[in-house]
Amino acid sequence: MAVLPILVAPHPVLKQKAKPVAAVDARVAKLMDDMVETMYAAKGIGLAAPQIGRSERVIVVDVHEKGETPNPIRLANPEIVWSSEEKGICEEGCLSVPEQYAEVTRPLSVRVRYLDEKNEPREIEADGMLATCLQHEIDHLNGVLFVDYLSLLKRNMILRKVQKQQKASA
Ligand SMILES: [Zn+2]
Repeated sequence: MAVLPILVAPHPVLKQKAKPVAAVDARVAKLMDDMVETMYAAKGIGLAAPQIGRSERVIVVDVHEKGETPNPIRLANPEIVWSSEEKGICEEGCLSVPEQYAEVTRPLSVRVRYLDEKNEPREIEADGMLATCLQHEIDHLNGVLFVDYLSLLKRNMILRKVQKQQKASA
């Protein structure tokens, strides 16, 4: 497994619509493992392949609480097949928009169909933090960042701060 560098907004790959994988073979399974390791190293709860520069429909999430056993979920070609009418507001952040947070309104519960690391079709029904995280990561596969839900003013303010930080740490 390998820890990979994470792209920071605005990067063109983050705005692309990612391509589905044909099947979860050894190559995709390795990509999933590398993404899990990269997510843990960055202390994130989710990561999408475009964030490491791979425009493929692969995401990993793990919303376990501190002190609980890690519980990574690896998803290829994830698709939201149902979402609740009830919505909730959650404060979101993103490894590609470092140290910036904002409230985003999304459906409270979702059902997601995907291929697991063994290429088996699966469905997961999620609510709370996991539902938010899955929707956030699936957005990445469609070139959407959480800041895209904010007003233009707020979005530009956040992206400017990120650029400033990047320059300061370069
Ligand atoms: Zn993100």
